[in-house]
Amino acid sequence: MEATKIKRVIRRNLPINDKYVLIDSFYTSMENGTCCDNCNKIIANIAVIKNEAAKVFHVGLDCAETLTHLQGLLGAQMQFTEAKGIRAKINKGKKDGQIITFENTCRSEIVVKFNDNSRLWLNREFVSKYLPDYFANISNPEKNEFNAIPEAIFCPYLSKETETARNFYKASKEYQFNDFTINVYLKQGLKMDGTPNGSWLFVSDIIRGGEVLSSDSTYMVKDLNRQINYQLNTILFNEF
Ligand SMILES: [Zn+2]
Repeated sequence: MEATKIKRVIRRNLPINDKYVLIDSFYTSMENGTCCDNCNKIIANIAVIKNEAAKVFHVGLDCAETLTHLQGLLGAQMQFTEAKGIRAKINKGKKDGQIITFENTCRSEIVVKFNDNSRLWLNREFVSKYLPDYFANISNPEKNEFNAIPEAIFCPYLSKETETARNFYKASKEYQFNDFTINVYLKQGLKMDGTPNGSWLFVSDIIRGGEVLSSDSTYMVKDLNRQINYQLNTILFNEF
């Protein structure tokens, strides 16, 4: 006897012949109970789509696939996959009894700290959109709006990787960034016993109102701009 196949006709709300574009995507936990605007199913991974009349709908990925004909959907799918992987890692850590914390960093990232000292650095917008339950647990939420200065060239002449300590004196000077003065100079590096080791350190002091707020050094001239960027962001982050 042949089994009777019953094809269930699911009612769809959105006309398929309209044109839709994906404009955003985010995750919401099931208990928040978001329904797909197209098929009414409860969805967690949400695609935000817009029709030609600029009307916005929240739909699940399957419906988004049908309605947008996959336009731009691959990027969103990758974000959801990545978020799922991170969630699995964190859940495993929790199962192993680890204490896991989420913190804003001075680079406007979120660092996930496990108490076995492993770390995950995540993009803040990514966490807020795809891991919102973790975002809600950030230990320093007062820094959620902090925007780090992007990596920039603070000392143009020194950005060349070929720059040598010998040539450095041509460039050694003070640079200005907003109300900060960046003073870059050379200092002889020392061995553990305090004797000179023949290498030179590139030192950067960050000064404001005559006060040295931060001082750091590197043997690698190519690291200098990044070092200064980190110093400035650390100061601004702490003052934020
Ligand atoms: Zn749907």
